[in-house]
Amino acid sequence: MRKHQILTIGECMVEMAPRQDEAYNRNFAGDSFNTAWYLRQLLPGDDQVGYCSAVGTDGISNAMLAFMQAAGISTHAVRRIPNRTVGLYMIELANGERSFSYWRGESAAKLLAEDRTFLSEAVAGQDLVLFSGITLAILSETHRQQLLNVLGEARARGTTIAFDPNMRLRLWPDQQTMCRAVSDAAKLADIVLPSFDEDGPNYQDASPQATIERYIAGGAKCVVVKNGPDRIHAFSEEEGHVVFDPVPVDAVVDTTAAGDSFNAGFLAARLTGSAMVEALAKGASVSAQVIKSRGALVAIEG
Ligand code: ADP
Repeated sequence: MRKHQILTIGECMVEMAPRQDEAYNRNFAGDSFNTAWYLRQLLPGDDQVGYCSAVGTDGISNAMLAFMQAAGISTHAVRRIPNRTVGLYMIELANGERSFSYWRGESAAKLLAEDRTFLSEAVAGQDLVLFSGITLAILSETHRQQLLNVLGEARARGTTIAFDPNMRLRLWPDQQTMCRAVSDAAKLADIVLPSFDEDGPNYQDASPQATIERYIAGGAKCVVVKNGPDRIHAFSEEEGHVVFDPVPVDAVVDTTAAGDSFNAGFLAARLTGSAMVEALAKGASVSAQVIKSRGALVAIEG
């Protein structure tokens, strides 16, 4: 089978996750990076999975790159920006509820789309490129447009573009700006991977089918609407509407990266030619394993 080249674009952050003893475990995570990490686990070793972002030149940036490389993820598309560093978030646990605090003001990743030539070279020749609403949210308006222009050119040259709207209102000035940016980005995507609990309220979609229709009307060829434990609704030009009911998971431990790992399972299956229903089943089975353990990055079986 032909070797694939896959790139995901966005921000990976330092995660400080509490332990029992008031110390913290230091991990690395971020939606687009999590998807790359799961794709790396799922795809054959001779497929290339790369990450596109920007980091600083300090020790923690070096540690993040070393972590990616040790996981088998190519970092050729990670720019180094002196005097910047990587973003950080801390998880606090109070009565079993997790809350998150973020430090990303100085994050180098905010400048990932600054250098048009670097970006164009990073996406050149890729079979599949994935980015998200969080990728867009951290960029200035000018850089956001630059990213979309470069992705549009890549698509015209045959790269498949996948986009997860991942709508995080606190990263945007207001809901209208977020919705407009997400809709613009989805227009240049072949595959749109929304979650109904975000798209439904933000766009006033009455149902997952309405979410599908809105993205198809915008130009997407394939839309998969995730919906937590509920029925997944999908549409593709070739196969029409397809639904899949995830196998219920009784002991949900932590739903972090459920959507990111679903995306990896789904895209890995599609890359290797699976039909829609098989790809939905693969996405659901990967995310079902992920939500049974704590943390964003969980070792999975096949
Ligand atoms: P996101 O993390 O983007 O909000 P979802 O919560 O919709 O994504 O979950 C993505 C996928 O993870 C779902 O389509 C489903 O396959 C799986 N999943 C999430 N929560 C559950 C659950 N409680 N039981 C079984 N599967 C789940």
